[in-house]
Parts: sequence; C-alpha cells; structure tokens
Amino acid sequence: MSNAEPHLVVCGQVSAITDECVTVQQHGDEQQAMKIDYSHLVYALGNHLPDPLRHDGYSKLKGMEWMKRCSERIEKSENIVVIGGGALGVQFATDIATRFAHKRVTLVHSRKQLMPRFDQRVHDMAYERIKKLGINVVLGHRVASVQQSHRDEAPTTQAENKEDVRYLVRTNQGLELDCDLLLLCTGTRPNSALMANFSPSSVDPQTRQIQVLQTLQVMRSVGHGEPNHFANIFAIGDVAETAALHAGYQAYYMGEVAAENILRQIIGVRSTAEPDSKVKEGETIPMQDFAPLSPMLKLTVGGGEVIKQDAPVADPTHPDKMVRPIIFTVPDTESMDVESVWVSLARADPSNMHA
Ligand SMILES: Cc1cc2nc3c(=O)[nH]c(=O)nc-3n(C[C@H](O)[C@H](O)[C@H](O)COP(=O)(O)OP(=O)(O)OC[C@H]3O[C@@H](n4cnc5c(N)ncnc54)[C@H](O)[C@@H]3O)c2cc1C
Repeated sequence: MSNAEPHLVVCGQVSAITDECVTVQQHGDEQQAMKIDYSHLVYALGNHLPDPLRHDGYSKLKGMEWMKRCSERIEKSENIVVIGGGALGVQFATDIATRFAHKRVTLVHSRKQLMPRFDQRVHDMAYERIKKLGINVVLGHRVASVQQSHRDEAPTTQAENKEDVRYLVRTNQGLELDCDLLLLCTGTRPNSALMANFSPSSVDPQTRQIQVLQTLQVMRSVGHGEPNHFANIFAIGDVAETAALHAGYQAYYMGEVAAENILRQIIGVRSTAEPDSKVKEGETIPMQDFAPLSPMLKLTVGGGEVIKQDAPVADPTHPDKMVRPIIFTVPDTESMDVESVWVSLARADPSNMHA
C-alpha cells in the first residue's frame, strides 16, 4: 500500500463490492481485509485468458514466476498447436517459432483471413512472415473437439501434472493434430464475477461483459420508474461491453471519459475544460459519451519485427472519405520498450525491472 495524499494505492485483490464500499485482501496480509468507501467506482478488472495462459499473478514476483513456468513448458514441448489467428495467436506462434526454430508449431484459424478485424494487408504481411518461420498454418478450420490423453501410463498422481498430457485436436474439416502443448487464443473471458454478485442484471448473460451506457455508466434493470443505470458506477476497458476493439489505447481513453464524467458530477460543471460552466441546482449534469477509436495495431511477428496499422485518415481531396490506413513494418526490441510503460504509466523506477 502506498499513500500519495490524497490518493491511496492498494496492492491487493478486491473480493466484494457493495453500493458503498469495496473489500480488498491486501497482498502479504491475506488474513486482513480492508474496506474502502466510495462515492464513485470505476470497475476496470479486464479479461483473463483460458488455461494454460490464464494467470492470477497480482504481484511482480508471482507474475515473473508464472512467466518462467510458461517458458519452461514451451521449452519442454516439441509439438505446439496454437488455436486462433487473432493478435494473440499470431504473436505466440511467431515468438515461439523465432526462439525455438526446431519445434513444430501449428496455427489453426477458423477464417481465411488472419486478424480479421484489421486491413487485409495485415493478413498478407503476417502470413508471409509465418510461412518464412516455417509455421504450419491451417486456415478455414474450426476446432470441433479436443481429446486429452496421458503421455505414458503414468500413475494417477503424476497424470495430474499437465505436462504429461497430450492433446488430439480435430477440426470440422476432418483434420487431426496431435500435440503436447495446446494454446487456446480464441478469446478472453471478462472478469465480471464481482459485478455479477453485486448487480446481476448489469452483466450480459451471453458475453459476461458489463453493460454500459455510452457514458460508461453501468446499466441495470430495476423497478419501473427507476433509472436504468448507476449514476456513480462506471465500467471501462475490456470488461465493458462497447463496440471498441479490446486494446490498451481504447481502455485508456475510456478511463479519461469516466474520469471526466466523475469530475463533472463532483464539481458540478458541464465540462472540466470550462471550470466556469457551473450547472444550476436541479439541472442535469451533461455526461461525455465514449466513442470507440479506430482499430490500430502493433503486432509482434517474431524476429524483432512488428507490423503496424495506423488509424485511417481523411482523404484531403474528399474530406468525407477515409483513405485506407497505412500498414508498415518496423524493427522492435525484444522488451517492446516496456521500460517506458513503467515510467509513464506506473510512475515506477525501472532500475529494478529485471530483479
Ligand atoms: C498478449 C497481449 C498483447 C496485447 N498487445 C496489445 C497492444 O500491443 N496494444 C494494445 O493497445 N493492446 C494490447 N493488448 C490488449 C490490452 O492489453 C488490453 O486491451 C488492456 O490491457 C485492457 O485494459 P483493462 O484495464 O481493461 O484490463 P487489464 O489491463 O487486463 O487490467 C485489469 C487488471 O485488473 C486486475 N484484476 C482482476 N481482478 C482483480 C481483482 N479481483 N482485484 C484486483 N485486481 C484485479 C488484473 O490483474 C489486471 O491487472 C494485448 C493483450 C494481450 C493479452
């Protein structure tokens, strides 16, 4: 826990929400629960990946331990199948093939186009790179079933060790792929359980995402005549159900919109950019709407290279028309310049980053 008056940063796991406070289990002191009252709440718990890519490392040490275990697992596997040709699947497949040239890596994707939410040229570039790295790409195949078996006739206790498991993947086109490591990159699951406990009607039963207004205020179904949303509770980032691509820059912008709306409510102004725009008593405070930003991309494709898609820009000769976005490759460092994120977002000292 660190205190930067009047702010308080608590490193811990939220275990419950009520309409007045949140309960946090502090790290290193799991017995001790802390209650924090709020006037406004921003729910930004993100998504998690399916196993074995899921991790619950809430501290740097736990996160590093998890990453080391994953690396060892990849190192020990010979035949790796990655399912899903979105950003995550392409990045995993190309990174593994770059680092371990002798391993057999197969990427299975249900459509003909990799990264289908981006420009076709992103697919073309990524596909070329994937083929160059010797990755076996299977496009237009959907996974129909996955069967697990144990490598040897191992005793039951050892069989629980997932490293002993082999997988037989069958696709809807009748293809069978045998592997000793299966990475599911087919979609993330929203961390919405705490919201579902607190306000079940706020969570979409199909997607498990939190339903929000364009103002990012959390919606709810209540009795007739009651507002259909919480005035003071916001959901942002991957866990919120919006049309935005799940990306850091979209989450960042949502954070700005939620912060603007909270400040307007606290100060009682029409816009924080105009501090004199006070709202008269009894008048409704206008809220800012979130509008998703254009899809943009920075995709690692192994070998120290990234593919970038910039936002489309207006055609100078036809201002109403957008020209296709620029797609290009640039060299990148292995660390992906994570140091700058520590400094700019976490305001952290990067000198012990690798310790
Ligand atoms: C491999 C990978 C690469 C990506 N690359 C890019 C990229 O290049 N550019 C880009 O824009 N986006 C990228 N993304 C997407 C981007 O990371 C997400 O869209 C973004 O992080 C979403 O932000 P968020 O705040 O909603 O959630 P997160 O960043 O996931 O943050 C949620 C946080 O809440 C914590 N949390 C969860 N439950 C609890 C709890 N009960 N108590 C306390 N804390 C909790 C989690 O540990 C996590 O730290 C990538 C994603 C992945 C998986």
